[in-house]
Amino acid sequence: MASRGKKFLDSLRDGRSVWIDDERVDHLPEHPAFSGTLGTIGGLFDLLDDPKHRDRVGFAVPGREAYAHSSFLLPYSAEDLAKRTSAFDYWAKETNGVMSRLSDYARSLVTGWYGARKQLALLDPGLESKISAYYEQARDHDLFLTTSLLDPQIDRSKGLDDKRIAERYLHVVRENKEGIYVSGAKMIATGAPYTHDFIVFSFYRLDSQYSKHALALLVPANAKGLHIVCRESFADDRSADHPLSSRYDEMDAVLLFDEVFIPWERVLLYGDAEAVWKLRSHHSSNSLAFHQTVVRFVAKLEFLTGIAFAIAESIGVNGFLHVQEKLGELITQIDTMKALLIASEARAQADPVTGVWVPEASFIDTARSLGTKLYPRAIEILQQVGGGGFIQTPSSLGQFNGPIGELLHRYFEGASLNAENKIQLFKLAWDLIGSPLGSRHELYERFYAGDPVRGLANQYLSANKTQWTEPVWKLLEKSRA
Ligand SMILES: Cc1cc2nc3c(=O)[nH]c(=O)nc-3n(C[C@H](O)[C@H](O)[C@H](O)COP(=O)(O)OP(=O)(O)OC[C@H]3O[C@@H](n4cnc5c(N)ncnc54)[C@H](O)[C@@H]3O)c2cc1C
Repeated sequence: MASRGKKFLDSLRDGRSVWIDDERVDHLPEHPAFSGTLGTIGGLFDLLDDPKHRDRVGFAVPGREAYAHSSFLLPYSAEDLAKRTSAFDYWAKETNGVMSRLSDYARSLVTGWYGARKQLALLDPGLESKISAYYEQARDHDLFLTTSLLDPQIDRSKGLDDKRIAERYLHVVRENKEGIYVSGAKMIATGAPYTHDFIVFSFYRLDSQYSKHALALLVPANAKGLHIVCRESFADDRSADHPLSSRYDEMDAVLLFDEVFIPWERVLLYGDAEAVWKLRSHHSSNSLAFHQTVVRFVAKLEFLTGIAFAIAESIGVNGFLHVQEKLGELITQIDTMKALLIASEARAQADPVTGVWVPEASFIDTARSLGTKLYPRAIEILQQVGGGGFIQTPSSLGQFNGPIGELLHRYFEGASLNAENKIQLFKLAWDLIGSPLGSRHELYERFYAGDPVRGLANQYLSANKTQWTEPVWKLLEKSRA
């Protein structure tokens, strides 16, 4: 029987319209832009079949013999939540925190909706059965999911009252008794070329008059009329020289919808802007999904810190005070993020209506906001520690076995490493901080959770402010008396 990884790869030959470099890709696993990354994802899927690993990443679905990934586990206790953390952590560590959209985030959204399906039925009577059916399908068929929530970046100073914008943002063009037809675009969807389904809805709260744009959809990647337009590939199959780009290039894409038919069972919501907003901002499902992003981020910081330490030692700069100060700062980054993660889990509570065990959102929001600043700083530290070493590397490690190999061994050696190991280490670091993949990652950490400026502003707007202002007024009152 084919392994889960193989089944996943085979399932991608389903007629989807994926565009890269002037061509429509027929079979992704064989294309150089996708083969390394898909090999990595296939290997992660296989873990669920491996008795040594499956309890770490999955759970036995009650009533079925099969295991499902723990992103589908609906937590009702601290133990359940810990099982989810363990699964996220395992996949994140297997990919050094560099792969972030392995579908465990989007699956968690669906799991959260499933946990609240009876409540959500208040938004639309059909929602409960649609969510139940989809959750079970996604869980039992290992569906790979990703989200695509933002509207295309055309003119951010204009809104839906502008005709040009309204026509280009995703909207319903017609409907019949089988479903709706939608046109427009959505950005950015990481993992888009190899996802099974897209979770698509409006990111911002819409005015009620824009009912044609008020949508929450589950869109199959092979839907007719849907085009997945990839960015340039950052994959590089020279794995010794590009250890990250050769296996972890999660592709980002823009989705173009050209009268795409969506059957009613996949139209979660349509027409009611307020209902879409309530689903989009649903507290427990967002907390479950955002929780995954913090687990993954900790793994990435740990990996980057490990590289920084190894580099400092390899060139003998780890004895300098200012280098030690910077390496210490990386430890404070890890500990800050871990502390927020632990706090979110320790303060988790049962949702009063559904009983779902929900991580404390405020700590998770803070971790996500802080991450947008910590990651660029971590990259800066790595640059400061390694200096020009990232560029003082021969273009290929293969040269160590060539005619000038002996000279390279002599002049590229480090304080504590032979030349070949040192150069391998610096190439790994460059792949994280300077390669196209590395630059994409810095941008990703700044923006993956939405606009960081409005994210932080929302933390202020939604905070219980009187808890902090009250003592101020109390003291002033006392001082006047
Ligand atoms: C590599 C990468 C991968 C991503 N993957 C995904 C994914 O898989 N799924 C997903 O859903 N999202 C994903 N995102 C996030 C998403 O697509 C957006 O990039 C993100 O939400 C920021 O929006 P934007 O890029 O449209 O920036 P904009 O909103 O256009 O912002 C650009 C600048 O203008 C400012 N600005 C714009 N409008 C306003 C306003 N009204 N008020 C104040 N300031 C404003 C912003 O503060 C910012 O400085 C990804 C992002 C990146 C970079």
